[in-house]
Amino acid sequence: MNHPFNDKGAAERLLQEYRKYKTLIVGFDFDNTIFDYHQNGGDYSEVVELLRECRRLRFNLCLFTIEDRIDWKYKVCYQLGIKPDYVNESPVIFENGGKKPYFNIFLDDRAGLESAYKTLKQVVNYANTESYEPGQE
Ligand SMILES: [Mg+2]
Repeated sequence: MNHPFNDKGAAERLLQEYRKYKTLIVGFDFDNTIFDYHQNGGDYSEVVELLRECRRLRFNLCLFTIEDRIDWKYKVCYQLGIKPDYVNESPVIFENGGKKPYFNIFLDDRAGLESAYKTLKQVVNYANTESYEPGQE
């Protein structure tokens, strides 16, 4: 794909943003992304574990989902070790931004989940390496 924000471009941009801000705003969906809400079966553990790593790195976690059973969804996130810092909003608010919340990356089963997962994983790996080797930068 010859688009500036294909997988490679998106990964480079996310890494640049992490290096600049030393944190990221990570949006994530609930149904069929971190939780098998419709009981289709399958393994959600890799996505959950990546979000746990984001939490350990003190990235901002933003649960972005429909409002139905929102308290229960928050509790499930908490129990999974991915307590959201924000629900249906972002810490960054743009003037005239309207309703669209800002995330550096968004994990959603309907928005290229595997691609977004791999992109975020690369930056998390970088951040972990960096944090274990202070003075590297
Ligand atoms: Mg979903």
